[in-house]
Amino acid sequence: MPRTTPPRPLDVAARFPELAPLARTAVRLHPRPGSPTAADSSIGGPLLWPAGEPWPTCPEHAGPRQWGHPPENVRQERRLLAEAWRRPRAEGADLLSDEERARLDRLGKRVRVPLSGPLPMIPVAQLYAADVPGLPGPPGTDLLQLLWCPFRHRDDHLPRTVLRRRTAAGITDVLPADAVPRPPVVGRAGYLPEPCVLHPEPVTEYPAPHELPGKLAGRVERWARRHGWDYQADLAVAPGCKVGGHAPWSFSDPAPMACPACGAEVRPLLTVVGGEWDAGSRSWRPAEDADHPGPHFLGPARSTHLDISDSSLQLYGCTRSYDHPHVRGLQ
Ligand SMILES: [Zn+2]
Ligand SMILES: [Zn+2]
Repeated sequence: MPRTTPPRPLDVAARFPELAPLARTAVRLHPRPGSPTAADSSIGGPLLWPAGEPWPTCPEHAGPRQWGHPPENVRQERRLLAEAWRRPRAEGADLLSDEERARLDRLGKRVRVPLSGPLPMIPVAQLYAADVPGLPGPPGTDLLQLLWCPFRHRDDHLPRTVLRRRTAAGITDVLPADAVPRPPVVGRAGYLPEPCVLHPEPVTEYPAPHELPGKLAGRVERWARRHGWDYQADLAVAPGCKVGGHAPWSFSDPAPMACPACGAEVRPLLTVVGGEWDAGSRSWRPAEDADHPGPHFLGPARSTHLDISDSSLQLYGCTRSYDHPHVRGLQ
């Protein structure tokens, strides 16, 4: 089943033609629970990985032990809560039994896990160009992979990320699933994505207010508000996991970011976020998910179960060279 973003409630470019040249395409990924294989685009699914290539590890999280959550505990916790929400209960009745609450407490506790060597990173996203129209990458490549170290790192409070770009047809000797290194511990439960298949959908975005020239921001925002909408939330920048598009308004410094290698402009490459929409961005809820009105943690908007400090992790790429390191932002 595809996912279809409803038309924007107002045609902002018709009213403000100066916005038209600033339009960019973003591809919303619409992750939903599934069983992706290495041949599929996914969030939290297996990667198409060359057998001879070392699996990325994080030298900052190594043995002999680390405090955190065993992935199996995180998954059991999610299953227990999902089952509890699914069963019928009388009005005012408790969601959980005493026994379940005790089990949840146990599962949610951080424990000290023995570790030999540096922690293997976990697959976060795999995107095939055949599924994601306009996937940015050097000529000849058709696959983008993102892995991260599932710990909050001290310097930037983010998981450490690794990007790989590949030519899928060039990988003839694939690392078998049972040979993929898996971390025995994650620093935060919200850094462990549930396996999701994707339903990519291109949409049109416009710059967030702080990136609009001159007094245009004030004019479009006032116009949108007069019609009962919010320019950024409803008309400009799509919420949820996506490729490309425009950067959202940032609570951090809105100064333009630049490539650390050459100083050129960087552009949004990939946005990874736990929620696909919430009360403030409900107009982007796909038509197929209209039965799920809220941002309920079991609903389609939270399919990945990712939680990056209630924010989104944005990866930006240099506009001059794909070889330059990506820039990250938390917004
Ligand atoms: Zn790490
Ligand atoms: Zn650069």
